[in-house]
Amino acid sequence: MSGVVVGFIGLGTMGREMVRNLVKAGHTIQAFDVVPAAVEEAVASGARAARSIAEAASGAAVVVTMLPDTPDVEGVILGEGGLRANPPAGRLIVDMSTISPQAVRSLSATLAAEGIDLIDAPVSGGPQGAKSGTLTIMAGGEAGAFARARPVLAAMGTTINHVGDSGAGQTVKLCNQLMVGINIQSVCEALALARASGVNLEQMREVLLGGSAASWMLDRLGPAMIAGDTDAGFRIDLQLKDLRLVGELATSLAVPLPGLALVSAQYLDAKAHGEGSNGNQALFKVYDRMTNQRSG
Ligand code: NAD
Repeated sequence: MSGVVVGFIGLGTMGREMVRNLVKAGHTIQAFDVVPAAVEEAVASGARAARSIAEAASGAAVVVTMLPDTPDVEGVILGEGGLRANPPAGRLIVDMSTISPQAVRSLSATLAAEGIDLIDAPVSGGPQGAKSGTLTIMAGGEAGAFARARPVLAAMGTTINHVGDSGAGQTVKLCNQLMVGINIQSVCEALALARASGVNLEQMREVLLGGSAASWMLDRLGPAMIAGDTDAGFRIDLQLKDLRLVGELATSLAVPLPGLALVSAQYLDAKAHGEGSNGNQALFKVYDRMTNQRSG
């Protein structure tokens, strides 16, 4: 599927980088976002501007969506002027947002009745992974549809796995997000203790990266936590959205997740302090407050 026409809807933090890599791989991108400046930026990256969902889908082999939350994806697919009424020529939609697995299964059944395939293909790796085209992509849906989507996914990620039926990609992603939240919290906790003890935090991070407590969070987000850098890669509001989705899934399956409850309360504390648009590493500010210290 080299050099196909791809509709791309949702040109935010992640989508704008994914579009660049799709263009680089030789695909023709029809880019749409409700924010006109985001479309202009995509055009500067080599995409064609689409003025509507229908224009993004027109003549495309596949449409990729990269939107904030479940209602956004439902709106773009089922809403007026949406993809159900205006499917791409290839009758394939790949949603790479993080949304509810239950909602994906329902959308997939609705679309299947009209001969349209939906693949859920959420990602991990953050804006850096999106920029370098090295995202981890976990896909759910019908195997044949996944095989058709794969060459397009290959322009955006390096670890690409089909993990099961519709919704399975989102389920794996939610497990990832549960671990992300708890992992960040564990790094915050260790840093708070070390800071109170007067230990050099940079040195501690270096040392721990060589031992059994090493983690992606300590490696990639530790420096920003230590510096008090709150810049957003992955916003606290989006982290809370994912923790909410984890909670909904766990409740539906009657699986108790005490770690989720604790870390959700801490992210809600951050939001209550007006920090929802900070990066998720800025959970450390909650520890600043609890210990009456300042990071940075
Ligand atoms: P974002 O908010 O930066 O971008 C979303 C884009 O969608 C925005 O440009 C917005 O204008 C656009 N949009 C919203 N509704 C729309 C509609 N109806 N039609 C067209 N465009 C619409 O979000 P993001 O950080 O790029 O994340 C997108 C998804 O990817 C989320 O589900 C998020 O949880 C997931 N994700 C994000 C990261 C990250 O590090 N930022 C990492 C992995 C997964």
